[in-house]
Amino acid sequence: MPIHEKSLIRPENLKTHDKLVLDGVDVSGHWSTFIEPRVVTDYNEKLEDEIAALPGGENIHRCWQCGACTNSCTVNAVNPDFNPRYWIYLIRTGMESELLRDKDIIWQCVSCHKCTYACPRDVLPEGVMKATAHWLELKGHTPKSKSMIFDEEFTEQVFETGKIEEGRVIRRFFAKTGQPLLQDWLLEMVKRVARRLPFKQGLLMGLATLFRPRTRGWAGARAAITEYVEEQQGRQRKALRLEETR
Ligand code: SF4
Ligand code: SF4
Repeated sequence: MPIHEKSLIRPENLKTHDKLVLDGVDVSGHWSTFIEPRVVTDYNEKLEDEIAALPGGENIHRCWQCGACTNSCTVNAVNPDFNPRYWIYLIRTGMESELLRDKDIIWQCVSCHKCTYACPRDVLPEGVMKATAHWLELKGHTPKSKSMIFDEEFTEQVFETGKIEEGRVIRRFFAKTGQPLLQDWLLEMVKRVARRLPFKQGLLMGLATLFRPRTRGWAGARAAITEYVEEQQGRQRKALRLEETR
């Protein structure tokens, strides 16, 4: 399916002649506009399978290109270059190099799920956007996003203790992303919570920060979860052929 949307034609592919007369007719300037043809040879025939192997991308094959996701998209309303329908088209046709041209805006999806409700084919375009952003990170095309670093920190704690201690998650997330711990919004939030929190609960939270309680009998659950996650990550690495490029 060729790309017909004018907004998707790259400006560098639009050519005009400053001075051109054809059969006596002056077609200088925008009257002589033409689109330079492109020849794409570096298809990644596995691209759709690679995205489908990541969480959220499973239903990408169901897309019939109606455009309802893009029309309803919150981010597209402020940035027309953010176009889920178009990226799904590029993925399904294996046009990896074309997709990579937009690698720095795909992460901008705000997970509002308007597209999820608009899609008549249950593609879950929000999931596809997440899977694509994840794919870009795994393939080394973009650096690890802050949300990915947060997720990893959160998961690491669950694996370790079977519990979450929010203070520790935030401290470690800030440290890993080079952010100062003393931020105005955080201090204000802590002040407000402290003002309303019952003394006993505050004391328990303070103790949890110091002693890091664990869920009783967690070792068995941890082993099962770790085995499952490693199995899934191995499957994803294989689908993305990451071992081959190591
Ligand atoms: S979830 Fe993402 S892709 Fe879907 S409408 Fe919202 S911003 Fe757009
Ligand atoms: S709304 Fe669904 S079927 Fe339509 S283009 Fe978007 S993902 Fe594809």
